[in-house]
Amino acid sequence: MKPVNEARFIFPSLGANEAFARGAAAAFLARYDPTVPQLADIKTAVSEAVTNCIVHAYPDTVGPVTLTIAVFENRRIRITVADKGIGIPDVSKAMEPMYTTGNPDERSGLGFAVMQSFMDGIRVTSRPGHGTRVTLTKQLAQKQPQG
Ligand code: ATP
Ligand code: MG
Repeated sequence: MKPVNEARFIFPSLGANEAFARGAAAAFLARYDPTVPQLADIKTAVSEAVTNCIVHAYPDTVGPVTLTIAVFENRRIRITVADKGIGIPDVSKAMEPMYTTGNPDERSGLGFAVMQSFMDGIRVTSRPGHGTRVTLTKQLAQKQPQG
């Protein structure tokens, strides 16, 4: 299905861009009047997906991250976060809560679990050596009639 509106941002995998990505998604969706809790969920999920690109996708270098936000009929949204980094050899294992290949002092292995619980749907596809794509979906609540 074709989105009714869509925005795409491409930025380098720098820590400074995590807040930008979260804010860009929120700014684009503001026009659709999401509820405050739904917007908070979406920002958290985007933050986790983008942080994974920054921390894991390009371990010793900086590479491109593409964030796409699409809005469909009926207020369905689809957010895609894609990188061209090292990829994930075993996606189902990586998505298990507490699984991390990062520094255990800094990472808890809960990013995918958070994305899963804060969004309606998550799909992760990856090719080792080529990159990873995380697709997040959510149904925005219907707008309340103005009283
Ligand atoms: P946390 O998110 O709690 O700080 P984490 O990032 O390790 O810790 P997840 O976000 O659940 O936990 O990711 C699990 C594992 O999946 C990571 O440790 C990493 O091995 C792998 N991974 C996730 N995203 C990517 C990515 N974009 N590129 C390469 N590997 C990734
Ligand atoms: Mg993570």
